[in-house]
Amino acid sequence: MRLITEKVSVGSSPVIIGGGSRIVVQTMCNTHTDDIGGTLAQCRAMVRAGAEMIRITVPGLQDVPHIKAIRDSLRAEGIYVPIVADIHFSAQTAIEVARVVDKVRINPGNFHKDHNIARERFRELIEVCRECGTAIRIGINHGSLGEYITNLYGNTPQAMAEAAMEWVRMCVEADFRQVVISLKSSNTVSMVQGYRELVAMMQREGTIFPLHVGVTEAGGGDSGRIKSCVGIATLLEEGIGDTIRVSLTEDPVNEIPVARYLAARYSGAAMPQLPERELRMLDAACTWGPKLMRHEIDDIPAEVDPYLRDEIMQAARRRFYKPEYIACPGCGRTMYDLQKAYREVMEKTSCFKDIVIAVMGCIVNGPGEMADADWGYVGEGGGKVSIYKKNVPVLRHVPEDEAPDRLVALIREDRKEQGMQ
Ligand code: SF4
Repeated sequence: MRLITEKVSVGSSPVIIGGGSRIVVQTMCNTHTDDIGGTLAQCRAMVRAGAEMIRITVPGLQDVPHIKAIRDSLRAEGIYVPIVADIHFSAQTAIEVARVVDKVRINPGNFHKDHNIARERFRELIEVCRECGTAIRIGINHGSLGEYITNLYGNTPQAMAEAAMEWVRMCVEADFRQVVISLKSSNTVSMVQGYRELVAMMQREGTIFPLHVGVTEAGGGDSGRIKSCVGIATLLEEGIGDTIRVSLTEDPVNEIPVARYLAARYSGAAMPQLPERELRMLDAACTWGPKLMRHEIDDIPAEVDPYLRDEIMQAARRRFYKPEYIACPGCGRTMYDLQKAYREVMEKTSCFKDIVIAVMGCIVNGPGEMADADWGYVGEGGGKVSIYKKNVPVLRHVPEDEAPDRLVALIREDRKEQGMQ
């Protein structure tokens, strides 16, 4: 049974999120926002593939006219897909852009350095959104909860839920209900736990905003698809989730068929055409993943393809057969060829087990979002990479063509020190 949430209406040809309506499929551009032509081309391809809402990063005030031009051009072409501005580190940009887009996503963990100022600026944002008919997504990320919350609750699923509730209460107090919430983590267990706790808290307080569900930094290829399906399907089976994003370290258009498959499986939308192999993989992930996550089973039947068994067991964090890779999907802030870096790092490090490696697109947000990774590989721009060990930079300005080998050398050295292979 679907959880009944508030009904949020986004855009001029409105897309309805929540209130029992069908699951909305969304994605995000990975182009630079000042590349208006490139971003428009990507938006058109996304809409053709079935995207019902598109997010675009707005790194600063200078990009507000760019996102406006993109939205206006789409409207002039008769494409009314709601446009969502993605904001980090600039409350002022959120407030300005709220006048020109359909929805604004903020991350409370980095909305403003000073917690009290963050709350004040958020109240200002609510008033602009009320005036302009703009919706808000409160987008909590496990990796960037902010000091205020981690000091109180540590780095836990409960911390994500508590972090969201503070902003939920501000919206309820202001009687502003055009609000969607997300609590993303690259760890499927933390992500599922966080959403369950948040739902229980909202139920206790009497206002249940719709939920945007996704596994963040899931990586790409089969692993990224399986990890996303295991996390998202577990929640959708429990009736939690009104809009979804499958984030892959690939062309974002590739996310849409996977998200449409999930929306069709759990809310009766039309099933997309998928290649036989992919369909079998997604079916297996959605059949066995939620049962593993709820500990209803401890293994997958032996008749299932052994490769899929390994991948699904790892996605549900029940058995690890290879390194755990975290990789952001990339966005308009990405500072290098992220998909190439991800492939190279995977090729060179696949021999190590029991290790978490993050490949992140930008030095601004990447280090803060890597959460509990053992090693981080982060694009600096200018053909250079920074390598992190447990969130501490250990090598900076490494040329991109040398960086994968430098990472491997550091891992080997570290394992030798610890007496591991
Ligand atoms: S970490 Fe990746 S997705 Fe996040 S802002 Fe940087 S490039 Fe974009």
